[in-house]
Amino acid sequence: ESILVAKNLSKTYQMGEVTVSALRDVNFEIYDGEFVVVLGPSGSGKSTMLNMIGGMDQASEGEIYFRGKALHNATDKTLTQFRRNAIGFVFQFYNLIPNLTAYENVKLSVELSKDPLDIEMVLNEVELLDRSDHFPSQLSGGQQQRVAIARAIAKNPDILLCDEPTGALDFSTGLSVLNLLKKFNKTYKKTVVIITHNAGIGKIGDRVFYIKDGQIEKVVVNDKPLAPE
Ligand code: ADP
Ligand code: ADP
Repeated sequence: ESILVAKNLSKTYQMGEVTVSALRDVNFEIYDGEFVVVLGPSGSGKSTMLNMIGGMDQASEGEIYFRGKALHNATDKTLTQFRRNAIGFVFQFYNLIPNLTAYENVKLSVELSKDPLDIEMVLNEVELLDRSDHFPSQLSGGQQQRVAIARAIAKNPDILLCDEPTGALDFSTGLSVLNLLKKFNKTYKKTVVIITHNAGIGKIGDRVFYIKDGQIEKVVVNDKPLAPE
C-alpha cells in the first residue's frame, strides 16, 4: 500500500530574473513500511523533495498525496497538523534545543502529538535513558543524534524523514545511527526516507531513488538490503 504518491511534481524558485528549477516533473510512489534512500549530489534537489514530502513547502506544480490526502493544495493548518503527527524529522546537525535536557527535548516534541510513545521507553531504545538529564553539550555527536532520533520516534509518526543523518558523524558512529533508523523501520514497520549524497548508505535501502538535476534518474530495488554493520 502506498503512503506517499507524487505526480508530476515541480518546484521552481524565482531569484530576481533567474528561475531555478529545483524539481522537474518528478513522479514517485513510496510504500508503507519502506526504507527509501534518496541519493544525489549537492544541489540535485534532495532537500526540495524532502520539503515537499514533509509539508514544509508547497510544490509549484503537480500533486503529492499522503495516504490519499492531497498535500499540494492543503491549508497551512492541515500541513501543520500533518507535520506534527505524521512526520518525524532527523537533521544533519541534530537541532536539539541546547538549554533543554535530553528528556526535555523529547518531551517538548511530543507535547502536541496525538498519540505519542512513552518518553522513557524511547530513550531506553536509543540506549540513552541514563543520559536523560544531560544537556546536548554534555553528549557526543552520536549521542545527540540518538536523542534527536528519540525525539522524532516518540511522536509515533508515520514517516521518519532524515536529512543527511550521518553527515556530521564519523563512520562508526554513523553506522550506529543507521542501525537505529533500521530498527525503527523494522520493529515499528514505519516508513523511513533518508536523503544523502553518500552512496554507501544506498546499500541499506529497500529502494534507492537516484536524483540528478531535479529529476529521478533511476530507481534501484535492493532485493537484499544490507544491514548497516
Ligand atoms: P540538495 O538538497 O540536493 O543539495 P536542493 O534541493 O537544496 O538540493 O537544491 C536544488 C536546487 O534548488 C539548487 O540549484 C539550489 O540552489 C536551488 N534552491 C534550493 N532552495 C532554494 C531557495 N530557497 N531559493 C532559491 N534556490 C533554491
Ligand atoms: P560517540 O562514539 O557516541 O560519538 P565519543 O567517543 O564521541 O562517543 O564520546 C565518548 C564519551 O565521551 C561519551 O560517553 C560521551 O558522553 C562523552 N562526551 C563526549 N563529549 C562530551 C562533552 N562535551 N561533555 C561530556 N561528555 C562528553
